[in-house]
Amino acid sequence: MKFILTSELNKLAKKLRFLGYNSTVSRSLSSHTTIRIAIKEERILLTRSVKLAKDKRCFTRILLVDDEPADQLRYLFHELKLNHDNIFTRCPDCNSELQNIPVEKVGITLPAKVLANYSEFKVCRKCGKYYWKGTHYEKTLALAQDYMKS
Ligand SMILES: [Zn+2]
Repeated sequence: MKFILTSELNKLAKKLRFLGYNSTVSRSLSSHTTIRIAIKEERILLTRSVKLAKDKRCFTRILLVDDEPADQLRYLFHELKLNHDNIFTRCPDCNSELQNIPVEKVGITLPAKVLANYSEFKVCRKCGKYYWKGTHYEKTLALAQDYMKS
């Protein structure tokens, strides 16, 4: 399941990526271009635009009516039966897949406290950011588990 989101849903895109869902944010202001990408790449269109959500050229399109990204995500969990099977595999910032990196290769680039407390690290080769299973991971996982139950 892959997504294309209109730009007002950038925060939701980061949450979806963190959960492992391939999520592109459309930088084009033209709805035509956004729909073309959705069709070509077989992405589900997520938008807050009523006009765009009504466009029948796009096979799957979902209109999000909630303001808060957490509520939008909850809605998608219910609507699309999302899960957290692939959490921590994709960069929330750029949508690239994360790669495992041994702790000795992480070296001095991270705070000593982080290096002392975590053993599993991932890196985004595209934007150079490091990730570990810290509080953000735990919170997102708990949120996803909660959404799957309710
Ligand atoms: Zn990245």
